[in-house]
This record gives sequence, structure tokens and C-alpha cells, in this order.
Amino acid sequence: MNAPLLSTLRAVLGDDAVLTDAADRAGYETDLLRTRTGQALAILRPGSTAAVAAAVRLCADAGVAVVPQGGNTGFCGGATPPTDGSAVVLSTERLTRIRAVDTMGNSMVVEAGVTLADARAAAESHDRLLALHHGGLSSRIGGNVATNAGGNNVLRYGMARSLVLGLEVVLADGRVWNGLRALAKDNAGTDLKQLFIGTEGTLGIVTAAVLRLHPLPRTFATALVAVADPAAAVALLARLRSEAGEVLSAAELIPRAGLDLHFARAGAGREPFDRRHGWQVLVELAGSSRFIDLAGALEATVGDGLAAGEATDAVVATSGAQRAALWALREGLAVAQVEAPGNLKNDTAVPVPAIPRFIRDAEAAARAIVPDCVPIPFGHLGDGNIHFNLNPPPGTDPAAFMARWPDLVAAIEDTAVALGGSIAAEHGLGRSKVAAARRAKPALDLDLMRRLKAALDPDAVLNPGVML
Ligand SMILES: Cc1cc2nc3c(=O)[nH]c(=O)nc-3n(C[C@H](O)[C@H](O)[C@H](O)COP(=O)(O)OP(=O)(O)OC[C@H]3O[C@@H](n4cnc5c(N)ncnc54)[C@H](O)[C@@H]3O)c2cc1C
Repeated sequence: MNAPLLSTLRAVLGDDAVLTDAADRAGYETDLLRTRTGQALAILRPGSTAAVAAAVRLCADAGVAVVPQGGNTGFCGGATPPTDGSAVVLSTERLTRIRAVDTMGNSMVVEAGVTLADARAAAESHDRLLALHHGGLSSRIGGNVATNAGGNNVLRYGMARSLVLGLEVVLADGRVWNGLRALAKDNAGTDLKQLFIGTEGTLGIVTAAVLRLHPLPRTFATALVAVADPAAAVALLARLRSEAGEVLSAAELIPRAGLDLHFARAGAGREPFDRRHGWQVLVELAGSSRFIDLAGALEATVGDGLAAGEATDAVVATSGAQRAALWALREGLAVAQVEAPGNLKNDTAVPVPAIPRFIRDAEAAARAIVPDCVPIPFGHLGDGNIHFNLNPPPGTDPAAFMARWPDLVAAIEDTAVALGGSIAAEHGLGRSKVAAARRAKPALDLDLMRRLKAALDPDAVLNPGVML
């Protein structure tokens, strides 16, 4: 039935831009976590904005849905096609040009398929920082914009939204909206780019973005600070914020269970302290000015934290290699969980002062369902975004644990919402959290989201079934 569409797509995009063999499609049909597999009519790999627009127009005319896909590293199944072969996956992997870097205006124009790693490297080669930074380095800029990605530097620089100055977007009817403006100030009407940031490819396909750059930090002061419990971690964070000020760039909570998982996998990392601590916070101050004594600021602030009983021990990196080793602990525990069979990922946020209560209540709620499950609450302390992940009880069948995922997820999300939190802090809703959003979000929020969808994509061409 879709043969004419596929042959027109081949004629317009080129043969190698339309993949239909099962073996060629496979990598695009399953998400990174292997929790969701779909089946696509075809994989489209257009190489330009005009080609994306043509593909969307042809699919829209044929009534075929389009699932945008970047690096396929998202955690909510938003880039996975439905199972019935009714949709095409449109990969941005060929939109990889860095169109411009403006060191005077501190911005860069990158195409949607540039990986986060490459975008950061390109900025750095111009002595600038692209402040978006997380473990999913093979993710692509379009995906980061579409999920409003967060990560390790949100505390200082904000989420992807605050780094986007302009966008180029292919709309559901194939028109191209050119909002590639590099303006810090633009109040000339509705800020249309915001419609496409964090809406997971349901309102438009991002083909390029103007990203804000910052001065490249030249000096870092990094420490791993042991704390007695999450309450002490939050108290230490408050001290760091007031004593170290805006140079505080990261404060990541690291639990014992996360370190143990990382050590078991990598075999390379080693215990950072003389003795094992239950909780630690990875703290980093970063500065681009050589006139600011970051090391002194960190030493004095952590020293005050030790004296006040907020911290119990600390190791300070004294070289780039030591700094990298401390960060490897933080990144390693996330990667170890991607690989751990049965690891249940959560992405809730609560107000920062509620973090200790959230961790306590979520642990009790999870253990009421699976008594010996292993909580691994870790992550972005300064954003209230603790990923309350869970591993199966040691020695048990991961599949049996996974059968309990729906109950566990609901219990953890309800715990966050009861504390004024969110069920989706930085990974989005995708397909996985549609039911949860229906349960947890106010009816008026959902109504407004549906109205926006109906206005911009009345025929549900873009990512139907995602978010709503
Ligand atoms: C080890 C690891 C650590 C991670 N840590 C973090 C973290 O700390 N913080 C964080 O926020 N995320 C994190 N992630 C998750 C992930 O990397 C991000 O969500 C990322 O932004 C997804 O980008 P992607 O290109 O892989 O998008 P995909 O997974 O391909 O797609 C994600 C969503 O965006 C849509 N989309 C993709 N490209 C476009 C486009 N061009 N236009 C419109 N819609 C599009 C898709 O349809 C889908 O709905 C991590 C991932 C890994 C593997």
C-alpha cells in the first residue's frame, strides 16, 4: 500500500536515504535501554533541511506518521516507532554540519544531527563552552532540544532551553520555520522556539539550532565530599551556593550502591576514600578567569562544611587526571545502570529541601512492593532531580523484578508528586510516561497540550502517541 510513497521518497531523498530491510532498520527500532522495540515502515535519513521538509510533506500527504530520531539515547521511548509498521523513523544522523561559530556573539549554529560530544568539542576548539553536559554524549543536538535535556551543569547554566537562542524547524505540513536568530533579547511577539523545546518531536522536527556559548572554564576545583546522609548533602549544597557563589557548576549525589555497581563493572575504578562511605557529593567549581582562586574557595567551603558536621571526609583533585577520575565515578555509575539487567530508571524532581524526605519515602514505598530491591538514588542534587533508580534484589531474576516495574514506578512518581515534584524532570514523557502524565498532571495542563498539538499538527503526523 505504501510502495508508491517509498519509491517517491527514494527518488527525492536518494536510495541510500531510505532503509527498508529489516536488518538495516533494526538499530533504529529499539531504544538504547532495549525496553521498547517497534517496527518502522522505513528509516529515512535526509541530508538537508530541504530534504527533511520534502520527506515530511510526502509522508503527511500519504497519511504516514513520522517519528523523529536523533542519537536514540532517550530514556522514554519517544524515538521508537509504534509496533504496527505504520510510521517512518526520520533520523537526523546526516544533518551533521556545524554551520557557524560566532566567538564575538558567543553562539554557534549546529544542525540537529551533530552529536553532543562533537558540538562540545567544536565549541571548545573555539575556546568556548557549550554548557550542555551529560553522559549521553552520542545523543544529538536535535534530541537534546526536543527533550530539553538537563545533565550535570544545570545548576549553573540551566537546561537545554536556556542554551537555545534560535531554531530551524520543519513543521508537520512540511513548511520550514526559520527562527535561527542569535539574539539574547527578542520580545517581538510570541517566543515560538519555545514550542519546540521539550515537546519531543510532537510539534515539529528541529533541523538546526543556534546555541548560546559561554567562556571556556580554564580552572576547576573538584572534590568528592563524603556526607552522612542526604540531609547533610542538601545542607552542604546550601553552603556551597552561598559561600562559593556562581562558580559552583556541579553538585552530584553519589550513593554507595551506585559506586559498587560501577566498580563491579569497570574493574578499573577504585574506592576514593580510605573507608567506604554511604553517600558522597561530587562538587565542582569552574571559572574562566585566572584571577579567581577556586581551589582556595573550595578548600575553605568544604572545610567549613566539615567543621559544621555536614561533611565527614573529602578528597580534592589536584590534577586534571584526578578530576577525570572523580568524574568517571559519576559517569560510570550511570553507564553501569544502562548495562545492569532489570535496572529501573526514574526521573523525578522535587524541590531541593524535600530531597531527603523524597529519598526516605521513595525507599519505603519501593521496599513495600519489592522488599529487598536495591535503591540507587543519584544525580543532580542542585536541581532536586535525584534519579531514584532501582536494581533487582541480589541473586534474583531480573525479569521477575521487571514485572513489578509499573507498581514501583507509580509508587516513586506518586511520592515525588506528593512532595510538590514532577514525574519527568529531564528525560521527558516519551511513550513510557503517557499514562503517568494522565494520572499526575492537572487536566487543564493536558488540555492545553492537546490544543497546541491540534493547532500545529492537526493530522497527527509527528510522533503520535508520544507525550499525549
Ligand atoms: C549514559 C547516559 C546518560 C544520560 N544522562 C542524561 C542526563 O544527565 N540528562 C538528560 O537530560 N539526559 C540524559 N541522558 C538521556 C539522553 O541522552 C537525552 O535525553 C538526549 O537529550 C536524547 O537525545 P537523542 O539525540 O538521543 O534523542 P532521541 O533518543 O533520538 O529522541 C528523544 C526524543 O526527541 C525526539 N527527537 C529527536 N531528535 C529530534 C529532532 N531533531 N527534532 C524533534 N524531535 C526530535 C524523538 O522523537 C524523541 O521523542 C543520558 C543518556 C545516557 C545514555
